[in-house]
Amino acid sequence: MRILLVEDEKKILDFLKQGLEEQGYAVDIADNGNDGLHWALSFAYDVLVLDIMLPGKDGLAVCHELRNQRIITPVLMLTARDTVDDRVTGLDSGADDYLVKPFAFRELLARIRALSRRDSFQKLMTMRVGDLLLDTITHTAQRGDRSIDLSTKEYALLEFLMLHPNQVLSRTVIAEHLWSYEYAPDSNVVDVYIRYLRKKIDDDHEEKYIRTIRGTGYQLVNPDQV
Ligand code: CA
Repeated sequence: MRILLVEDEKKILDFLKQGLEEQGYAVDIADNGNDGLHWALSFAYDVLVLDIMLPGKDGLAVCHELRNQRIITPVLMLTARDTVDDRVTGLDSGADDYLVKPFAFRELLARIRALSRRDSFQKLMTMRVGDLLLDTITHTAQRGDRSIDLSTKEYALLEFLMLHPNQVLSRTVIAEHLWSYEYAPDSNVVDVYIRYLRKKIDDDHEEKYIRTIRGTGYQLVNPDQV
């Protein structure tokens, strides 16, 4: 999952970026509305976290502009103000959800999880493909009755694959959703992490879930949906 964070208070920005990266999200940042809009128009983010009071365009204007340009990425608004009018204005600008400062980091995470799954078939805390289970809260996987420890990046990759079962995902698309601009990898890094993941979830099993699509990328096969 790749998130764009637009916030002008440096302390909050640094804290949120670090916390989200520790959870396995790829995070790009902007500290003003104009840069935020530019980034949001340039990459396919999974969620945007947008402060309202920003230098340059404010969060409401940024959100408005994105919706005008038919960018439907879920937007979580952050604000210090909490009146009914503020909330209504935020939602009317095209935001999907709203969080009032100060907030608990856990709540931000829960809202991001909810927003990133909004259109997905999978709204449960546990995702399942065949006998492979992924717990989106504890970030652990299970295949059959064997539990599997995942590194932060392995978790993020498996979650991304499981959110798009049976879809062919190019290396570029996978890289864009898993790494921020700052850490943009060579495309063979995707291959490396796929290899790690295969070792953990597929190698000991007859039935393989991760399929290589020659010349393109990868596909997670859901045997129940084929
Ligand atoms: Ca602000």
